[in-house]
Amino acid sequence: MIESIYKTKDSIQSIEAIKNGVCQRCFGNNLHKDKFNNYHCLDCYKYSDINETMRLYRRNRIMISKIHILNLLYNLTEEQKKGSNFFVNCFNNNNPGFLQAVCGAGKTEMTYSVILKALNQGLSIAFIIPRVEVLKEVYNRFIRCFPKTNIKILYENNKDFEFADIIFSTPQQLIYFFQEFDLLILDEVDAFPFVNNIFLERLVMKSVKTDGVILYMSATINNKYLQLINQNKLKYFSIASRYHFRDLSIPKFIQYNNHKQMLKILKQFLKIRLELNRQCIIFVPSINFGHIIKEWLLELQDKTFFISSKTKYKKSIVKEFRRGDFLFLVATTVLERGVTFSNIDCVVINSDHEVFSKESLIQISGRVGRVVGYENGEVIFLSKYLSTSMKQCKKEIVNMNERKNNEVQTM
Ligand SMILES: [Zn+2]
Repeated sequence: MIESIYKTKDSIQSIEAIKNGVCQRCFGNNLHKDKFNNYHCLDCYKYSDINETMRLYRRNRIMISKIHILNLLYNLTEEQKKGSNFFVNCFNNNNPGFLQAVCGAGKTEMTYSVILKALNQGLSIAFIIPRVEVLKEVYNRFIRCFPKTNIKILYENNKDFEFADIIFSTPQQLIYFFQEFDLLILDEVDAFPFVNNIFLERLVMKSVKTDGVILYMSATINNKYLQLINQNKLKYFSIASRYHFRDLSIPKFIQYNNHKQMLKILKQFLKIRLELNRQCIIFVPSINFGHIIKEWLLELQDKTFFISSKTKYKKSIVKEFRRGDFLFLVATTVLERGVTFSNIDCVVINSDHEVFSKESLIQISGRVGRVVGYENGEVIFLSKYLSTSMKQCKKEIVNMNERKNNEVQTM
């Protein structure tokens, strides 16, 4: 159902916006009493003020039934087929499921079958991704693969979802839905801002029908989901190999004492890239730092760009980089996931900084060696100290490679 606020008390089929100390829009109880003794919800006021004098109106969404087709230009690998079957089985048995797949395994393709099945049953479907850039990229892939399907994308001010057969959305936009979806796919569970965000988790739970199915996907898994798996409340399947079966690149740690020394190491590394004509993404922990590194890089190369969440023309810069127009791209974690470049190396500067969580570092390492023919690439973590996240990231990648090699041997 779609949910919106009405300021009068006479709307039919409406409920109190705040009831028994709980906001009915976000199910939070973080309330504030104003000078008129009215309670307001502090958890979701950013969307628009909501207080106890208001009503929430819920209506059914209109769905148009039709036959959908899947237009795949290539076959899934055996591993991808297993992941795809896992999702279909979860859906058929009405079980929530978690698919853990290494970066570059081709997770999106594993959702096509289950989505086609749900579409042809006339069910309501949501595909949720926390990062807008990744959301847009996956949405574009679906547009190509499901030519008869009406797919809408929801983020920031993009709020048109009428008649959509599949709604692509950030978790934030789920505030507009109440028990709407029969199937909700939640991708990149380990990504900011979803990870450890109780508010967004509430919105996900609220938007799914009581008998709806949630399918989670991620490259890493945290304790919360592991616990549910151990309690048999969540089905689990993992894919340790990339679609081309080569190992994931293991990050190399290089330590420095001061900024000057760090620049020296970076310069040496990039000079070799210049000689080899190899592209490299240089990840930085903050926007300020990104600008400094970009200016410094101009000494080595006259064309270089810096991308952050604030960059206006991200898409065209990424396009030029992918085309090979320039060698070095500086980026914040905005580029850590969802993008594929064919032949690159990655350097993470100040990799011991708190923004680089284990999950984030695994994603960054996963940018390298994704494409057949270019499976090798270097990942360097440059830092003063060795953080726990860095060590955990390396350990997990080594484990995944070992597990994959064991699986390949027994195939
Ligand atoms: Zn609220």
